[in-house]
Amino acid sequence: MAVTAYKVHGAVAVITMNNPPVNGLGHALRSGLIAGLEKALGDAKVKAVVITGSGNGPKQTFCGGADIKEFNTPKMLAEPSLHTVIRAIEASDKPVIAAINGTVMGGGLELALGCHFRIAVGGAQVALPEVKIGLLPGAGGTQRLPRLIGVEHALNMIVSGAAVPSDMFKGSKLFDAMSTPEALLKDTLALANKIVNEKQGLPLVRNLKMKMPNADGFFMVAKNTVAGMAGPFPAPGKCVEAVKAALTSRNFDEGMARESQLFAELINTPEGKALRHAFFGERAAGKIPDVPETTKVRAIKSAAVIGAGTMGGGIAMNFANAGIPVTVLEMKQEALDKGLATIRKNYENTVKKGKLKPEKMEERMKLLVPTLKYEDLRNADIVIEAVFEDMDVKKTVFQALDKVMKKGAILASNTSTLDLDKIASFTKRPQDVIGLHFFSPANVMRLLEVVRGNKTGKDVLATCMQLAKTIKKFPVVAGVCDGFIGNRMIHQYGRESQVLMMEGASPQQVDKAVEKLGFAMGPFRMGDLAGLDVGWYIRKRHYAEHPKQPRAAVADRVCELGRYGQKTGKGWYEYKPGDRTAYPDAEVEKIIVEEREKAGIKPRKISDEEIVERLVYALVNEGARILEEGIALRASDIDMVYLNGYGFPLHRGGPMHYADAQGLFNVARRMRDFSRNPHSDQKFWKPAKLVEKLAAEGSSFAGWDASRSSKSKKKGK
Ligand code: NAD
Repeated sequence: MAVTAYKVHGAVAVITMNNPPVNGLGHALRSGLIAGLEKALGDAKVKAVVITGSGNGPKQTFCGGADIKEFNTPKMLAEPSLHTVIRAIEASDKPVIAAINGTVMGGGLELALGCHFRIAVGGAQVALPEVKIGLLPGAGGTQRLPRLIGVEHALNMIVSGAAVPSDMFKGSKLFDAMSTPEALLKDTLALANKIVNEKQGLPLVRNLKMKMPNADGFFMVAKNTVAGMAGPFPAPGKCVEAVKAALTSRNFDEGMARESQLFAELINTPEGKALRHAFFGERAAGKIPDVPETTKVRAIKSAAVIGAGTMGGGIAMNFANAGIPVTVLEMKQEALDKGLATIRKNYENTVKKGKLKPEKMEERMKLLVPTLKYEDLRNADIVIEAVFEDMDVKKTVFQALDKVMKKGAILASNTSTLDLDKIASFTKRPQDVIGLHFFSPANVMRLLEVVRGNKTGKDVLATCMQLAKTIKKFPVVAGVCDGFIGNRMIHQYGRESQVLMMEGASPQQVDKAVEKLGFAMGPFRMGDLAGLDVGWYIRKRHYAEHPKQPRAAVADRVCELGRYGQKTGKGWYEYKPGDRTAYPDAEVEKIIVEEREKAGIKPRKISDEEIVERLVYALVNEGARILEEGIALRASDIDMVYLNGYGFPLHRGGPMHYADAQGLFNVARRMRDFSRNPHSDQKFWKPAKLVEKLAAEGSSFAGWDASRSSKSKKKGK
């Protein structure tokens, strides 16, 4: 079917946009709108024109704005642009009516604002969300919306990007009439005929006059408020300026010119690029080249979790929150009681904050079924194991699951470091085994690494990707290796932070340097928050297995003193009761000085810039190796892991995007510099082959992603 349909009902031509999934205003659709309009204008029998979207009902879409498939392609800018379409509508000598059959966003709303009349169904989402991708509405949205709903309301919508239900605009000038999904066509045709019969004029939003007493004061306050909330992002501030221009410009066209100028200023900001990278990266992460979207998924109507500890409890809550019954198994009654009590307490805290109704909490608690018996898991569609991180324990559990679980059930492990393929080998159904690596707290953190084993079935993978969305998680596919994507990379970041400390930087300097970049917390403060004993425990195991490998001497001594971080009041820093401020501590400083001496290191002054480079590029080099090994499908997936699970600052777009922004040529050079540093891991710092290759080609990780995505598209054909 063509992207637009054209049908005449009596004296009214109806142009229907049909570009699934959201009627994105791609080049073909824009051209179709112009063609439909010309056809209607050239037909003497047609007296009015309607633009609507295919499908009807509040869940349908009139138009969701720009076609993201065309983003950053020449088609996006090709004529007819949205401006041209809107100008053509405004120039029409026959009334053009937008019949808003559902969601109307971004360019879609701007299109409707360019029409002479608008009729909308109730319950439709109305928004100008461009700010969320670092832009502002650039096709007149900032100039027309305030003329219809008032400066204050329009500014709120434009600065927040938030969607408002259409019903809220009843009685405002935004909609000339309201309708229902069932009656929309009939009501629109009636409205059109009435406009024609009554020979109503052709009102244009651009001609509406605006007034606002005390505008200067209002915009001063708005500017300051928005600056406070926008953080490093420039778009919200520019939105304020654009709306102000609607009010203060001498005429509409001058305001439009200002809007275009502000839009152009935003298009190249690094912060906006990072936001768009995150936006597109999030969509790309759901695509698995060899697992088509049409893959048949398994039904998940019930779940089970093994282990009601820190992770198991949170994982179980995710299912209960989504209305899926979940059986929770522990070995001992006390552990089971403790786990369930913790879950209840978590819910009670949410109730106390007013974010959950008490009756909803009880509903969710009822969905949690505690048990000590494996037989009770028999009917679950999926089981997630979250027991101790010990291969022998995992073996016992998976062998038991293999015996009891029904055929076709998915057996998942939440392991963070163990070999998933080995875990799968404990069963006779490795195709049903998958890793679901939740992050702590599992009921809060959105990221989910979906670990694909050697033998994991494609339908199992597809099912888990879909399930992740049902339980409100953001899934990213990872291959099997120690630490998967996120933890494998963070290990290098942590290791390098220790080297920096040995070479002369204090923990507080290292922390401050990365916090200035935008991280909420530097590595030392983060360690204190998470608990230093966890890493120490893993290190001790590692030392036993690899006695010759260098030790983290300072970190070990800090732990030997019982300084485990915030929970013991002391770690890398000192904490006062009831105060989470990290105070530098002389005891730690003394250990650092002693260990430097022992290692024969003469401390030097290290710049904040070097600290940031060494920590972020450590992530990048390991990330590149992860890509080479096929552990991550694309560089943007790595960035999504870091933005959603590790507090990487959103306005930097993730480590791989950050490296692209610095230029891989420069990144590779710095890595080579670091590989000459005798105190660090020189082998590690040799740039990954992929970094060298892309740097030499003048390419980027984004370029690599794009070329692989087009190759896999060609293969699919
Ligand atoms: P935990 O010690 O808090 O909980 C483990 C629970 O499993 C305990 O309640 C224990 O009684 C129970 N258990 C142990 N053996 C069992 C068995 N055979 N049958 C039934 N129950 C059993 O541990 P955790 O932090 O929740 O970690 C669980 C898993 O999740 C580990 O594999 C860990 O690597 C992984 N993980 C942990 C985190 C984290 O931040 N804690 C993050 C991601 C993944």
